[in-house]
Amino acid sequence: QFDEMVYMDKLTTTGQMAASIAHEIRNPITTVRGFIQFMQQDTVDEKLKQFSPLILEELDRTNMIITNYLKLAKPEPFELSNVNIDKILMDSIELLRPLGTFSNVTLEYDNAENCYVKGDTQHIKQSLLNVIKNAIESIDKRGVVKISNLVDYQNEVVTIVIKDNGKGMTKDELKQIGLPFYTTKTKGTGLGSMITNRLIRQLGGTIDYESELGKGTTVTITFQLVSKKS
Ligand code: ADP
Ligand code: MG
Repeated sequence: QFDEMVYMDKLTTTGQMAASIAHEIRNPITTVRGFIQFMQQDTVDEKLKQFSPLILEELDRTNMIITNYLKLAKPEPFELSNVNIDKILMDSIELLRPLGTFSNVTLEYDNAENCYVKGDTQHIKQSLLNVIKNAIESIDKRGVVKISNLVDYQNEVVTIVIKDNGKGMTKDELKQIGLPFYTTKTKGTGLGSMITNRLIRQLGGTIDYESELGKGTTVTITFQLVSKKS
């Protein structure tokens, strides 16, 4: 699914990025400006309280967009070592639990075996956060995201499965995951999956998406197994 990127001319990518950055960053900044102007005009203690979460949300969003673009432009260095995948999974899930609760999505983790994989903690965590966040965001009203990991001794890999019962994707949509700026969300950046795919490949892992429209999506990630015990 990534071959298409080979055909993308670097100049085109840079141009697209510049346009997209300008566009994406202007929207939240306009919102923030509006609120700040409003505050100057009025005696606004209570209003300030009322709108400050919105202001923060927009600022955080701006920050996230910039961070994502920077990651895209300048890949962070990483070190391969033996990392406890179970712990990284639990940390990632806990980080996203508030978002899950807010979205009426239950995060279930089938805590299987404690094992180590070859990788980089930050890279793996970033990848898992992106994938689990997408799973949560795919669910409209309420739903479940099931996460499990299992050790495949024969192939010496650890397989992590992230399964949601969200809106799913058509074959055509599935093909576009991971292409820069591909998003179907009004507040999406279309960069999460691209970064995820790159990070996982850098670590020698694999990522695979399966999806059925209206039923949900299953993302399967593998990392190289190091040893079983902690
Ligand atoms: P973003 O989340 O900012 O839109 P991503 O690269 O993370 O960017 O995802 C790109 C697109 O892929 C999403 O907008 C969505 O349409 C689709 N997608 C990714 N994960 C899922 C999922 N679990 N279920 C349904 N659609 C998904
Ligand atoms: Mg995303």
